[in-house]
Amino acid sequence: MTSKVYFIELADRTGIETCVQAIRSLFKASNATSVIDPKDFLAVKVHVGEKGNVTHIPADLVAAIVGMAKDAGAIPFLTDTSTLYKGERSNAVNHILHAYSNGFTIDKTGAPFIPADGLAGNTETEVVINGELHESVHVAREILVTDSIMVISHCTGHMCAGLGSSIKNLGMGLSSRMGKMRQHSVIQPEVIKRRCTACEKCMRWCPENAIEQRDGSSFILAEKCIGCGECIAVCRFEAIKYDFASESVFLQKSMAEHALGCLKDKKGKVFYFNVLLNMTKDCDCMAGVQKKCIPDIGILASDDPVAIDKAALDLTENEQGINLARLSYPHLDPMVQLKHAEKMGLGSLEYEIEHVL
Ligand code: SF4
Ligand code: SF4
Repeated sequence: MTSKVYFIELADRTGIETCVQAIRSLFKASNATSVIDPKDFLAVKVHVGEKGNVTHIPADLVAAIVGMAKDAGAIPFLTDTSTLYKGERSNAVNHILHAYSNGFTIDKTGAPFIPADGLAGNTETEVVINGELHESVHVAREILVTDSIMVISHCTGHMCAGLGSSIKNLGMGLSSRMGKMRQHSVIQPEVIKRRCTACEKCMRWCPENAIEQRDGSSFILAEKCIGCGECIAVCRFEAIKYDFASESVFLQKSMAEHALGCLKDKKGKVFYFNVLLNMTKDCDCMAGVQKKCIPDIGILASDDPVAIDKAALDLTENEQGINLARLSYPHLDPMVQLKHAEKMGLGSLEYEIEHVL
């Protein structure tokens, strides 16, 4: 089956007002309201960016989607889940306060920010999926309660999955703490002693205090490590490695299976936007300012998460000669998550682009 992906092109560094107009045009042209019935609770999945992150999707774009969803009769709320790592988003209270401080206020967006996995990230429902890796997955409870979902994803590279886009936003972003733990469960980072300069940067970033200095280099305490990969991303000496070949494959497939769990009983009720603006090597979970790694391309919309992520990869490849994931983490193959998602019935790798003017 060939899925349709709607695309509105935007020149590099287009101003926010034009971007807002563009997402409105895209919303209309792609018939995004087809997933909304009057009085639906509509979960608008966002990522408000970690502290100091300035490249995340701006609240104005989210506000445009919320406004149009309301016009269609929905009762929208913004949502996300608690992170595994300690930061501004690791519990509902801090996450809500942080969302507001990053501009995602009710005044600005027209909708409240309600974390889908409760106060501490463990309000969850177990969903049977009979997947290749998991018979069941643990999903943030409110995602199963809500009637419809719009997933707004910022396309970025990702240190463990290669690509951070719709499938990751669903599978990792809407699973409970236990679901996230299971996705990360095989990642076992190790320090390469001869490369380690003992700069201690990884220690400062590790959310679990799982790194200490031993004999002049960093040492990872396996019993404390949650496999979040932050240390791999911050080490500038490539002194921390994990078995990318097998561990990324597990994480990506597990992510796709968790995405499937999030979509339970939502046939025809979920829509996706991929924002190819301010794209960076790492995802918006990284605190601090990141540099753009590709000129802006535009925004995509589709009812198929596999097709829209494949289109994002292809468009970035057309732009740069190498796709966003390969450009960011060349040793990772983002097609693992896409192919597995297709195999699990989430969507199709075959798509056609419809240009929106
Ligand atoms: S950041 Fe890298 S070089 Fe610095 S202490 Fe950690 S492992 Fe060693
Ligand atoms: S050691 Fe690395 S992967 Fe493990 S918890 Fe710390 S930062 Fe995350």
